[in-house]
Amino acid sequence: MKPVLPGSTIGILGGGQLGRMFAISARRMGYRVHTFSPDADTPTGQISDVEIRAPYDDLDAVRSFARAVNVVTFEFENVPAPTAAAAAEAAPVRPDGAVLHTTQHRIREKAFLDGAGIPIAPYRIVRSEEGLVRAVLEIGCPAVLKTAGFGYDGHGQVRILTPEAAAAAWDSIGRVDAVLEAFVDFECEVSVVAARGVDGTFRHYGVVENRHQRHILDITIAPAGVAAGIAERAVEIARAVMERLDVTGVLCVEFFVTRAGELMVNELAPRPHNSGHFTIDACVTSQFEQQLRAVCGLPLGSTRQIAPAAMVNLLGDLWANGEPDWNAVCGFPEAKLHLYGKAQARPGRKMGHVTALGMDAVTALKNAVDARAAAFYAPRNFL
Ligand code: AMP
Repeated sequence: MKPVLPGSTIGILGGGQLGRMFAISARRMGYRVHTFSPDADTPTGQISDVEIRAPYDDLDAVRSFARAVNVVTFEFENVPAPTAAAAAEAAPVRPDGAVLHTTQHRIREKAFLDGAGIPIAPYRIVRSEEGLVRAVLEIGCPAVLKTAGFGYDGHGQVRILTPEAAAAAWDSIGRVDAVLEAFVDFECEVSVVAARGVDGTFRHYGVVENRHQRHILDITIAPAGVAAGIAERAVEIARAVMERLDVTGVLCVEFFVTRAGELMVNELAPRPHNSGHFTIDACVTSQFEQQLRAVCGLPLGSTRQIAPAAMVNLLGDLWANGEPDWNAVCGFPEAKLHLYGKAQARPGRKMGHVTALGMDAVTALKNAVDARAAAFYAPRNFL
C-alpha cells in the first residue's frame, strides 16, 4: 500500500477538539483537511480547508465527502456504523469500521476484552428492570450502571448503592441496554495511549495517571508514579488490544489500578485521547501527528517524552464569572495554553487544556494547577 503523502487530503468524521488538534498536526505537515459533522463552525472545521455540515445519516453526503479525500479517519467513536461503511466505499477508513463497531458499544467491548482474557471488573449485561435487579444481587453494591451505547464523560452512568435503588437507576438511564459493573475501589486510574502503523509497528507513550472530577477527566500526570511491573503489564495489554482489534491508528486503554496492585481495563477509545494531550508539548511526536502518520501509512514517529508533564482540563465552569484571565495563565512560562474555539461555555464542557512541563511530575502538576487557578476570574466584589 502506498503512503498518503503530504499534499494529500485527509477527511475527518466529527468536529470536536480531537479533530481540531489532529487537523493542526495535519496542516503543519502540509496536508489538506476536510471535516464532516452535523454542526457549523466546529472546533475541527475552524482549522479545516473544507467543513461539510450534514447529518451522519445522510449517506450520499458522506460518500461525496469521502470521494474528495485520500483517507478518512474519525475523531469520536460514536460515528454510526453505516456512516463509516458509506465512507469506506470511496476511501480507506482508518481505523476500520469494525474497530468502531466493537468499541462504541459497551456490551461488545466487554465481550471482546473478556474473550481476549484481558482483566476487567466483574459485570453483567442488563436488558430489563428484572435483569438489573438480578444483576445487582449477583454483583453486589455499590455498582455502576452504564448504558451500552453513546456514553462519554460519565453520561449515561449511575451508581447503585442499594438493591432498592435499582428501579430508579433503570429509569434514570432511559431503560436501555446497559452493563452493570462492580464498583472498583481503585488506588488510582491510569491509561496507555499507543499507536499502531499500517505495517503493525507498535509505539506507546508509557503509563499516565488520570484524576477525574464528576466522571470527567480533570488531570493527567505523565509519567504515572506506578511500579515498573504495573507499567509493563499495562503496555502489554495495550499492545494485545491493538493487535487483536487490528487497529491502524491511535488507541487509548483506560485502567483501574486496584489496591492489590492489579490492573483492570475500564474502557477503550479507538482514537487520540484526552489523557494523551500532554504529548503535544512534551513528546517528540504528539498523539495527533502519530494518528496522522498511522492512517497515512507513514512510519511512526518517536514517542520519547522530553520532560515530565501534567495536563489540566479547562471546563466551561471556569467561565462562571466571565472570560478567564488568559494573561495570567501566560504568566506561567512552563505552561502551554490550548483553547478549542468553542463559543459557548457550559459547565462540564471541555473548552481547552493547559499542559505544563517541570523538572519532575510533581513540579509539572503544580505548574499546571497554578496556571489554571490563575485563569479563574474572581470579580472585585468577591475579593
Ligand atoms: P467511564 O465513562 O466508564 O470511563 O467512567 C468515567 C469515570 O467514572 C471513570 O474514569 C471512573 O473514575 C469512574 N468509574 C467508572 N466506572 C467505575 C467503576 N466500575 N468503579 C469505580 N469507578 C468507576
